[in-house]
Amino acid sequence: MSTKVNPNLMRELEEFGLKDANKCFHCGNCTAICPLSTEENPFPRKLVKYAQLGLEEKILQSAEPWLCYYCGDCSDRCPRGADPGETMMVMRRFLTSKYDWTGFARRFYTSETFEIIAVAIVGILVGLALWIFHADNPNMEHAALNSVWPAPAIEIGDLIMAAILTFFLLSNTWRCVKFVMGDLLKKVPLEIYATEAKELIIHFITQKRFGECTDRMQWIVHLLIMTGYSTAFLLVAVFLAGGIELVGLAWEPIRFQRDVIYPFFHPMRIFGYYATFAILYGTTYALIGRIKKSKAPYKSTHGTDWMFLILLQLTTLTGIFIHFCRLLDWAMATYVIYVIHLMFAIPMLVLEVPFSKWAHLAYRPVVIYLTRVKEKYYEMQKGTA
Ligand code: SF4
Ligand code: SF4
Repeated sequence: MSTKVNPNLMRELEEFGLKDANKCFHCGNCTAICPLSTEENPFPRKLVKYAQLGLEEKILQSAEPWLCYYCGDCSDRCPRGADPGETMMVMRRFLTSKYDWTGFARRFYTSETFEIIAVAIVGILVGLALWIFHADNPNMEHAALNSVWPAPAIEIGDLIMAAILTFFLLSNTWRCVKFVMGDLLKKVPLEIYATEAKELIIHFITQKRFGECTDRMQWIVHLLIMTGYSTAFLLVAVFLAGGIELVGLAWEPIRFQRDVIYPFFHPMRIFGYYATFAILYGTTYALIGRIKKSKAPYKSTHGTDWMFLILLQLTTLTGIFIHFCRLLDWAMATYVIYVIHLMFAIPMLVLEVPFSKWAHLAYRPVVIYLTRVKEKYYEMQKGTA
């Protein structure tokens, strides 16, 4: 079967941040050194070669970019300074834009101006909506968010946002599955998909493959950001917006915006403090590393990397301010900071999760799972041959 070649692929990849891949002379050091490369899925040299030869379809079908966690070992050992770790990162940006059928991810990754304007527009719209729909007589004596924006209205907005976000993320993830599985998608028995499903959960929660890299600090930082973010998301979206509590003798739904301050050792506060610490530590470590260019993964920083870290850190910092203003019962300060908090948090959720850096939280475990599914399928084929 003939393979289509895209002669402009290198130029296209440059728009996603590719710089030094042309320097590669294929010594193979990087693949030999990579702790995650295997005989069945060797990388990163193979992907550098695909880029140089314009083999776009091969890249689209490749699982390897998602098997790399960008520890930087390969870039440190490359004798030509071709930065293969960064090439793998560029591949993930390129693939994210290919999986996204709206074309939004491509604009996000290839134009910093577009990215900044999109984030600013969503943030301003959120601020305007909160300003227009605030209650006429809010409680100014005590910090009570529900007196300014009634919880049921905020919950409806939250559910609409979650539905839109889930639709885009799932439809893009489905395209990722089709690219990676190709013809095998329908050939693999359902039983294999089902028995290997645990891999999806294990890799999402633990990122345990990252722990096999030599720089374990990168794994810890990655894990802190991921678990911190997931904990905060679960607390807000599931336990607050979707939970129930015993009030008197009846179970009642827990409202998204609670004005009740939980006791210090309440699980919601303990988990909330963990999420805050984990995100702040992880994002501060990564931001300082990127400013100082302290190691290979931090040497070339794309605009979307800055945006991701900055939005996450500002969302967390404004969340901390809200917490203290509520504890001190400062009504006006709580309301103002709440608006600012949502002006950072909502653009991060609606733009970053389905179209940019956050999408890798879905793509990576899904592709690791599919890689396992394929391996099992081939093992079964061998057994029956
Ligand atoms: S990227 Fe560097 S280490 Fe890897 S094959 Fe090319 S020259 Fe060798
Ligand atoms: S950055 Fe690390 S995990 Fe990725 S290809 Fe290089 S050595 Fe392997």
